[in-house]
Amino acid sequence: MGQAVVVGAGVGGLSAAIILAARGVPVRVIEMAERPGGKIGIAEHDGVELDTGPSLLTLPDALDRVFREGGSSLYDELELVRPDPAFRYRFPDGSILDLRPDVEASVESVREALGNDAGREFEAFLSYARRIWEAAAPAFVHGPAPSRRSLRRGGLPALLSILRIDPFRTMKRTIDRRVKTPELRAVFARFATYNGSDPRQAPATLNCIAHVELGLGGYGVRGGMYEIVRALVRTAERQGVEMDTGVRVARVRVHQGRVEGIEASDGQRLSASTVVFNADAGQVFGTLLPAGGRSPDPSPSTSGWVGVLRSRRRAGGERRAAHTVLFPENYMEEFADLFDRDHAPRDPSVYLCAQEVAHERTGWEEDEPVFVMANVPPEPADGARPDTVWEELRERVLGRVRSAGLCEPGDQVVFERTAAGLAREFPGSRGSLYGLASNSRTAAFRRPPNRLSSPAGAYLASGSAHPGGGIPLCALSGVAAAEAVLEDLHLPLAAGAARR
Ligand SMILES: Cc1cc2nc3c(=O)[nH]c(=O)nc-3n(C[C@H](O)[C@H](O)[C@H](O)COP(=O)(O)OP(=O)(O)OC[C@H]3O[C@@H](n4cnc5c(N)ncnc54)[C@H](O)[C@@H]3O)c2cc1C
Repeated sequence: MGQAVVVGAGVGGLSAAIILAARGVPVRVIEMAERPGGKIGIAEHDGVELDTGPSLLTLPDALDRVFREGGSSLYDELELVRPDPAFRYRFPDGSILDLRPDVEASVESVREALGNDAGREFEAFLSYARRIWEAAAPAFVHGPAPSRRSLRRGGLPALLSILRIDPFRTMKRTIDRRVKTPELRAVFARFATYNGSDPRQAPATLNCIAHVELGLGGYGVRGGMYEIVRALVRTAERQGVEMDTGVRVARVRVHQGRVEGIEASDGQRLSASTVVFNADAGQVFGTLLPAGGRSPDPSPSTSGWVGVLRSRRRAGGERRAAHTVLFPENYMEEFADLFDRDHAPRDPSVYLCAQEVAHERTGWEEDEPVFVMANVPPEPADGARPDTVWEELRERVLGRVRSAGLCEPGDQVVFERTAAGLAREFPGSRGSLYGLASNSRTAAFRRPPNRLSSPAGAYLASGSAHPGGGIPLCALSGVAAAEAVLEDLHLPLAAGAARR
């Protein structure tokens, strides 16, 4: 059997590699960075390791599926953490809402902070979000990429299930219709940012994300999010996957419509009858495959300005909330800046993750690492924004954190990354965190599928392919790509997989 090359060691690439190797395919992963993990990144400062990418794990079953294929399980490999409160929301008037690890406790908390009507709205909205998830997940998350043809083939039941997922209204419209409490409107609208989208444009189907986090649960990982990468690498190695780091794939060799191997930037050539791309689709279609394929994604998701603060631990042993969101005066103006004006937000919402609380990471003797992030637009297709944009945004973000009393004058930013940095590190991404934004009803149908129709032997497993960005969906992208490869090689599919 020919070798499979996986280009990139992010979650999607490692997941595909594990499943293919577990089914007997010889797999080599080629990663251009010095260490695996992709957007799940780490940095080190003064002897302390910091997470620089994701800070919340949802849908852990998606990763569990990969670990099980690789002969272990999520629970053998990782210890999940559920701090209480989970999320602390601070509104412009200084009021606070804490959401808790289970729905009933959160409803109670909403009642206490915002009143009984708000408690009822919160509970009812979560029931609606659960119904959407249950109708949408089988067709749009698990299994192969949906297409208009697959919907037509599904007949009336498929069409009825489409109506159940509320695709014709926008997220915001449904939220405004179902929720009158302004604070809850902001909390629910923010879930659009979990895949880098705009609640004013994204279909209401995305309201299911509220159920994914608040109903099914958002988790930390003991020791930090990078433990996910370490566990995936261990599992891949146990299955015999070979990995080169610090090697960039420059192009894929194609002969008579089939992939036949890759060429690395150092001139090294490898034969491969299968190539799974974990690199962003923009790079795959832009430079890795011969010209003439699909054009790069026209509407990438948002990017981020990211900093990690070395922050003096709170006096008197007071614990920070694991995750804190600081809402601006007019939240919808932020989306107008991001999506209508292509501008870094003038009054940004700010997200903070206290890594010692969220992930039981160990900080410095007197200081703790606090991750800080603001949403920004993806980088322009034809260049980079000037540095002054980032300097100004950094001051606005830190000003807001300071005025909320969440950092002291002596606290230092020990790690910083802008959209421009992300775009350089992840070629073809334009700095986007989650691949394609879901800002239209048809976004799910426009996402590149996991198997390319041309050249034969090319597959996509990343946040920029089906089913989308975020750790769990990228893992499922790896699963779907591996299943497509196994099907084409006439090898048994993973348990529960459907032939397409
Ligand atoms: C700041 C930030 C915060 C986030 N927050 C969350 C969160 O809280 N929860 C969540 O679920 N998700 C979050 N995400 C999104 C999540 O991290 C990503 O969706 C996911 O990690 C992307 O995985 P991927 O499989 O697409 O691969 P990527 O992480 O994109 O990795 C691709 C890999 O391919 C390599 N590569 C690219 N080109 C080549 C080449 N030519 N040759 C060799 N190697 C190559 C890259 O170096 C990289 O390692 C966040 C992301 C960021 C950056």
